[in-house]
Amino acid sequence: MTERIQAIRGMHDLLPEATARWQYLEQTLRQLMQQYGYKEIRFPIVEKTELFKRTIGEVTDIVEKEMYTFDDRNGESLTLRPEGTAGCVRAGVEHGLLYNQTQRMWYSGSMFRYERPQKGRYRQFHQFGVEAYGFAGPDIDAELILMTARLWRTLGLTGLTLQLNSLGTAVVRQRYKVKLIAYLKQHERSLDEESKRRLTSNPLRVLDSKNAALKSVIEGAPKLIDCLDEESETHFQQLRQILDTAGLVYEVNPCLVRGLDYYSKTVFEWVTDKLGAQGTVCAGGRYDGLVEQLGAKATPAMGFAMGMERLLALLEEESALPDPLTPHGCLVLVGELAVKQGIMLAEQWRDQFPELRLVVNCGGSFKSQMKRADKSQATVALILGDNEINSNVVTIKYLRKKCEQKPVAMNDLTLFIEQLIKA
Ligand code: ATP
Ligand code: MG
Repeated sequence: MTERIQAIRGMHDLLPEATARWQYLEQTLRQLMQQYGYKEIRFPIVEKTELFKRTIGEVTDIVEKEMYTFDDRNGESLTLRPEGTAGCVRAGVEHGLLYNQTQRMWYSGSMFRYERPQKGRYRQFHQFGVEAYGFAGPDIDAELILMTARLWRTLGLTGLTLQLNSLGTAVVRQRYKVKLIAYLKQHERSLDEESKRRLTSNPLRVLDSKNAALKSVIEGAPKLIDCLDEESETHFQQLRQILDTAGLVYEVNPCLVRGLDYYSKTVFEWVTDKLGAQGTVCAGGRYDGLVEQLGAKATPAMGFAMGMERLLALLEEESALPDPLTPHGCLVLVGELAVKQGIMLAEQWRDQFPELRLVVNCGGSFKSQMKRADKSQATVALILGDNEINSNVVTIKYLRKKCEQKPVAMNDLTLFIEQLIKA
């Protein structure tokens, strides 16, 4: 027998039953973006490899071991995007969107990272990201964080906590690196191979290690937040003031450094303990140096990305998912005349009630139509056969509760459907 071809490890199909949940989340996010005046940008899934190396940083997990990189037929090195910020800035610079102006944008789509697949960690996954350009002050940091907090409220999520830190300016980090290297050298024997290698090339990355054995060394390291200059300190304090005034609870986590090199000043993560080891649902920060790094005029920038799979897992965990696809009713038609009339009736109702979710059960015996109606989880079956047509009624059978079936006169159906939708 021919062997069946299966999907690639860590890359998943989204079946019709799951897409309903995705659409609900996507719609909620779109509306949130409108509320804050952010516009969508779409950029390619593949970019030149150099773009990611230059932005994310050569000595990072993503660039060192997680990218899907290949040569195209011309021998040019291309990479499937592992994240969205690099492509967003590249597109923004290329089209002059970031020059001497402010810009509020969002994107969403597939990202690719060659990681060890496990719950909440996939090789193709989806991010929703938001980026703001041209705003130097902490008010935009606050806007983005308050926006995420609003999203959790809208979705009815309660299990997320906000962690906040400041990575200071480039000058601060340069000074801090010297201190950190000195500290790490003292503890070199406790470091793993990767961290030893990064000790001099990119010591900040050691702090981001996922190796549990390094936890105590990392916790004992000098803290960047204790080395801030006045500019970074003021920025951080002002941000905290806005969040405090808004009544947003957060925790300052001096160990939060983030896995990409481009961050500066504010960084934040929303984390939950309800999803096991993969508990970061949303993460972001300020990246004031990146636009210049890509050859354009220096432009302040701030953004975040959330993992859609993790967010959906949390929605499921907290039972916060509405069910937008279950039909209100199934129309069961028996007999030639009923089929003809029924289809037109269904059209009329859909004209009258755009929010009505009605499935017309085409074909099959009465029994098999009723079976399908039941399987659809619909609230009622609306039955139309010769008897009903003769007496000008539709028989209503409740599928989810014990209740006598009853005839409803054609004239009263509008009222009945109105109530069915409201219930
Ligand atoms: P982690 O520490 O979990 O590896 P990260 O720091 O690499 O996360 P970011 O690059 O900041 O993640 O991406 C933002 C968000 O995208 C993460 O907080 C997470 O919700 C999600 N995400 C990242 N990698 C994956 C993945 N492989 N599978 C599913 N979601 C992911
Ligand atoms: Mg990662």
